[in-house]
This record gives sequence, structure tokens and C-alpha cells, in this order.
Amino acid sequence: MSASGRVALVTGASRGIGRAVAIELAARGYRVAVNYRSSESTAMDVVRAIERLGGTAMAARADVSDRELADSLAAQVERDLGPVEILVCNAGITRDNLLMRMKDSEWDDVLRTNLSSVYYCVKAVIRGMMKARFGRILAMGSVSGLVGNAGQANYAAAKAGIAGLIRSVAREAAGRGVTANVIAPGYIDTDMTSGLPDDVKSGILPRIPAGRYGRPEDIASAAAFLVSDEAAYITGQVLAVDGGMTM
Ligand code: NDP
Repeated sequence: MSASGRVALVTGASRGIGRAVAIELAARGYRVAVNYRSSESTAMDVVRAIERLGGTAMAARADVSDRELADSLAAQVERDLGPVEILVCNAGITRDNLLMRMKDSEWDDVLRTNLSSVYYCVKAVIRGMMKARFGRILAMGSVSGLVGNAGQANYAAAKAGIAGLIRSVAREAAGRGVTANVIAPGYIDTDMTSGLPDDVKSGILPRIPAGRYGRPEDIASAAAFLVSDEAAYITGQVLAVDGGMTM
């Protein structure tokens, strides 16, 4: 795939899926900004892993749920690596609770971190992409956003919101060589899911036709394709990468 040193910003890349996406893109020749909110040492581990592969990467701390910090993140990446050509909006959190018990703060935190952050980051880079007549925007949705999930009204609403946001961006930017897509991961083995009770985990497995939980690398290879030059004619799509869970 022809990455030719393009600049990719991956939000929430210090751990889990974002980490795997950052490493996969670097392995394919992208120069990668590894964004994180608080885990500096793990973000630096990702940068070092990329450098060991012979790639170029920088770590960039920013809470992307804050508009000003998202703006300065894009500016910092542009200063250090060049204008962002590939944006992967991956940062996300869960604050699970049944709707009856959900606190407003749990709703607000998840909507701000998982949905508003995508709006802020896309807004920070899209003008440059449109002018350059090239860009790839990819956001991490979730199967919860497709089919709902008990205990995740906040999370599912944010992830469904991402799909509407990204499809609209796709329509606005398609004529300028900019694509915008969503990956909806199924159950992927990361810190986000490791804390789920064993009975919840074992209840999920029989619902996955592939017969196994997903790995971050399963998402990373789909992400690498969707941001590649080869995917130029794919836009406004939500691709479930879930071992068949929602087919
Ligand atoms: P992890 O909890 O393993 O990692 C989350 C990452 O997001 C970390 O790098 C974290 O940074 C970062 N992050 C969180 N909040 C912010 C913020 N405000 N600003 C910047 N970075 C932030 O999550 P996963 O890898 O499992 O999930 C990645 C994405 O995939 C999320 O959007 C998630 O909703 C989605 N997803 C995951 C699924 C799964 O089964 N794991 C299923 C469906 C979707 P730090 O380390 O500094 O805290």
C-alpha cells in the first residue's frame, strides 16, 4: 500500500486498538502521531516500538474531549510532522450503567469523550485536507452503536452519533478526495473489556460466529485498508469488524 510517508494522527493510541492501529500504520510507511490523555509511558512505548520498526512517530498528549486541546494537538502534529493527512479518531471511554441509574456525569463524560472529540478533531484538520484535496478520516464506532447494549445507553448513543457525523462529513468532503468512514468493532480484548465480569464475557462468546474475541490487530488491518490510497472510492461506510456478531 502506498503510504509514502503520509502523516497519520491516531487519538487514544497509547493502549489497545489505537496502539495497534498506530503500529500497523507505521509498519506501512506512515509517520504517526501517537495521541494519549494520561499514559505517557505507554505512549512512549508505542513510539519506541515504531522506531524499532524503522518508522517515525511522536507522542502527543492531549485530552481530545477539550476543543482547545484538540486544536493544539493538530497544530503540534503539523509543526512536528506536517499537516494531518490521515485522522483516526479512536479515543474512547465507557461509563456503563443502566439508564435508570445513569448519572448525568456518566452521560456527559461519554458523549464528550466519544462523540464531541470526533467533531473537534475532524474540524481541526478538515480544512487542510480539503485544500490538499486528499484526506482520510476514520472513527471508531462500536457494534453497541448499531444494535444497542443494555447498560450502555450513553456509549451506544455516542457511537451511533459518530456514524451520523461521519456520514455527513463524507458527503461534505467526497468531492475533494477526502473519505470518512467508521469501523464498528465487536468485542475486542483490551483494557476496556478486561474489567467486564467473567459471566458477561462468557455470555458474549457464543454470540460471536468466529468463535473467538477480537484482537486489536483485527481492527488495525481493517483501519489500514480504509485509510489507504486503495480505499479512495469507499466513503460514508460503517464497517463492522466483529467476527460476524451483528450480521
Ligand atoms: P482502551 O481503554 O484500551 O484505550 C483507550 C485509549 O483512549 C487510551 O489510549 C486512552 O489514553 C485514550 N483516551 C481516552 N480518553 C481520551 C481523551 N479524552 N483524550 C485522548 N485520549 C483518550 O480502549 P480500546 O482500545 O478498547 O478502545 C479504543 C476505541 O475502540 C474506543 O473508541 C472504544 O470505544 C472502541 N471500541 C472498543 C471495543 C472493545 O471491545 N475494546 C469495542 C467497540 C469499540 P490513556 O492511556 O492516556 O488513558
